[in-house]
Amino acid sequence: MREAMLDAPVGDDVFGEDPTVNRLEALAAEMTGQEAALFATSGTQSNLLGIMSHCQRGDEYIVGQDAHTYKLEGGGAAVLGSIQPQPIAMDANGCMNLEDVAAAVKPDDFHFARSRLLCLENTVSGKVLPLDYIERAGALAARNGLGFHLDGARAFNAAVKLGVDIDVITRQFDTVSICLSKGLGAPVGSVLVGDKGRIGEARRLRKMVGGGMRQAGIIAAGGIVALEQNVARMAQDHSNAMRLAQGLSKIEELSVEPNDVQTNMVFMTCPPDRATALTEFLAAKGIHIKARPQIRLVTHLDMTEADIDTVIHAMTEFFSKS
Ligand SMILES: *Cc1c(COP(=O)(O)O)cnc(C)c1O
Repeated sequence: MREAMLDAPVGDDVFGEDPTVNRLEALAAEMTGQEAALFATSGTQSNLLGIMSHCQRGDEYIVGQDAHTYKLEGGGAAVLGSIQPQPIAMDANGCMNLEDVAAAVKPDDFHFARSRLLCLENTVSGKVLPLDYIERAGALAARNGLGFHLDGARAFNAAVKLGVDIDVITRQFDTVSICLSKGLGAPVGSVLVGDKGRIGEARRLRKMVGGGMRQAGIIAAGGIVALEQNVARMAQDHSNAMRLAQGLSKIEELSVEPNDVQTNMVFMTCPPDRATALTEFLAAKGIHIKARPQIRLVTHLDMTEADIDTVIHAMTEFFSKS
């Protein structure tokens, strides 16, 4: 990937003249079955552009209560787009009840914000949205004249887990944001995909939020390698996560549920009074976790099966000493 970045031909992408960015955008559009793509600096930016391409000031988007686009993006849609979120409770699998969604769509009445967009996330905390759920949510959006956006930061994990090409998921949406910098392993960047009109609008919005980059081919080259070489191998991350969960589930003091592991995330609960000591014990072995009772562990392409075993071994050692 570093070599591809070093060798990348570049130009001024603000003028659409960076051949490597253009190649990345064409590749992303083709793989996702959408007309066009836009390279963005981050997933947060790409989601913001997606939401703003659907909604004007005073409009609203319907979104999961714990969704990244609502909870973890600094309120950007509200702050920068004057777009009101309408959050809806999510179940343990990251799904909103579609009856709740339908009930939240506002009638055409000047008291209300205008409901314009339904936003899903996949994977959500490592869980894969069922294809038929996406289909039903899409039909609901269409029936109500709502746009349909996916925060697909980790959508490739979902596709690999389901054993389908990414476009089986992404074709169902009007716009999709995909992170190149998560499981796909690029250092920087996301892509927003959609139809030409909306991506053209997003390009304008990207300029407005300061995301128009010049010789961006240097980083886009990493994204091309990510899309061409790092998709199928995500299955390894998933099996590593399962191996980790199974290993940790044998430690009595920890609460880990292997049956909850679908892709590359493992959630672990540790006794609150042991969290700091565990963190320090692991740090001394070069394993860095956050000192919290609830810990999220994410596997990725820099981690081998042997690394997983090292972590299991170290945690087992810590708790066997107590
Ligand atoms: C990481 C992530 C984002 C945003 O990505 P950044 O590049 O960190 O801004 C959005 N949604 C989900 C689900 C993510 O995991």
